[in-house]
Amino acid sequence: MTTASPALVADLVCANHILYVEGVVDGFGHVSVRHDGRDDRFLLACGVAPATVTAADIVEVDYDGAVHDAAGRRSYLERFIHSEIYKARPDVMAIVHSHSPAVIPFGVTRATLRPVCHMSGFLGFSTPVFEIRDAAGDDNDMLVKNAALGRALAASLGSNLFALMRGHGSVTVAHSLKLVVARAIWAEMNARLQTEAMRIAGGDSGVNYLTPGEATGSMAINETVVDRPWDFWKARARTVLASLSR
Ligand code: MN
Repeated sequence: MTTASPALVADLVCANHILYVEGVVDGFGHVSVRHDGRDDRFLLACGVAPATVTAADIVEVDYDGAVHDAAGRRSYLERFIHSEIYKARPDVMAIVHSHSPAVIPFGVTRATLRPVCHMSGFLGFSTPVFEIRDAAGDDNDMLVKNAALGRALAASLGSNLFALMRGHGSVTVAHSLKLVVARAIWAEMNARLQTEAMRIAGGDSGVNYLTPGEATGSMAINETVVDRPWDFWKARARTVLASLSR
């Protein structure tokens, strides 16, 4: 059992449920947050589907990717995504890795994922694409399953808040758990909207994207009100998951 505060563990359980209900994760994908009682570990669910996560499933992982209280349970193979980004980015307090579908086309084409609406300014103007072949060669299983691949992904992310993983999914980071959940939801929303805008415009050049100043300005104001969507998403997740279990 983790020694982190029960409130943080409860929020992490909730984050798992929200990401499932809002269409960001399915049977796969994960969300982590730094431990609030010690500086050498973060919290992550053990290897279960996000919708089914309970407080008892939350385990502690260190920055070498070692799981400390698994008690024989499976762990996520891709926990190195989290350990290596936390090592590289002291500003990052929470991370989501997902396979949310609408962003994936932007990792496999020349189209650049860019903010088309005011909820997604955090995407910035140079959404990086992690190419696993550069680190693992042409014959690989697409998974970031060791520290070296995690380091390569963290290097691709750089100082950005979001990175695509070619043919796989994405990773997003934030200075709080609530904000990283919001960003994961808004990135998927932006990808759907951008795809639709490009379809209507007949390509990328006819789309009127946010300016860098609009992206930065809208991101700053959205971060101050993240409690409002969080409370709503939390209530919806509770309702939806209760109806599924009946
Ligand atoms: Mn994955």
